[in-house]
Amino acid sequence: MSYLSQFKIAPGARVKLAQFDPTCKGHHENHAAAAAEIAHYSERLRALQDLLYAEDNRSLLICLQAMDTGGKDGVINHVLAAMNPQGCRVAHFRQPSREEAAHDFLWRAHRAAPARGEVVIFNRSHYEDVLVVRVHDLVPKQVWSDRYEQINEFERLLADQGTQILKFYLHISSDEQLSRFKDRLEDPTKQWKISEADYAERKRWSQYMTAYEDALSRCSTAAAPWFVIPSAHKWFRNLAVAQIVVEHLEGLGLQYPRATADLERIRHEYHAASK
Ligand code: ATP
Ligand code: MG
Repeated sequence: MSYLSQFKIAPGARVKLAQFDPTCKGHHENHAAAAAEIAHYSERLRALQDLLYAEDNRSLLICLQAMDTGGKDGVINHVLAAMNPQGCRVAHFRQPSREEAAHDFLWRAHRAAPARGEVVIFNRSHYEDVLVVRVHDLVPKQVWSDRYEQINEFERLLADQGTQILKFYLHISSDEQLSRFKDRLEDPTKQWKISEADYAERKRWSQYMTAYEDALSRCSTAAAPWFVIPSAHKWFRNLAVAQIVVEHLEGLGLQYPRATADLERIRHEYHAASK
């Protein structure tokens, strides 16, 4: 992989989020200087998704996790804007419904997982069950502690079935979050997004960081790696995610299926005859 490999968590590595600079812009000066590259990777995304859909054999699962305002919606917009809606889907994981809560924590994730040929983006994911659930003591420690291994097993099952899993933590500082909250407060088109609960969660920032560090350290595997994406600059965040997705899809060696029909015969007998 390119210079983006610095954002990839090696299996078994102990993550310290303080060591990642959320304001990183890679080798780009600014958004304008990166515009050609952004367009290039969007175009590659489009072509590779077409191939994935046509091949109808493998699938792609993108998990997005972030603190509020980290940019999950922005990434979803950017990545999906480049793709054919036929073959793509977003699954948003909120507080479990009664039905979801009546099952094991992976049930809803498994139901939402991509079918062959499909791209699915998880807006939040099964990781909430070792993040918000841990921070708020919603289950005993023994229960959430066992989940890291259960998640690894679940993801290995999906990977063994041909699902490429890529997991992104969109990294912003707590100051950046406060400034984005302020923007939301002032902008009538964004005010609907803000709630008192957002400010209450901020108070637990360091507990969330500890929970994220454990999740990233314990669940980054060869089959389903975690990436820490510097997300202070929205354009860089979008570019980095798009480029990592492209590089992994390129690595799959996707192929258009061979025609099953007798093309020569169709050309001569049917096509010529339909003029
Ligand atoms: P937005 O950017 O629109 O705020 P969001 O993903 O934060 O998007 P919300 O409806 O605001 O959506 O929040 C969903 C909430 O559900 C989050 O606070 C999340 O932590 C919580 N949640 C998700 N999964 C679980 C879970 N398994 N148990 C408890 N809470 C959960
Ligand atoms: Mg929210």
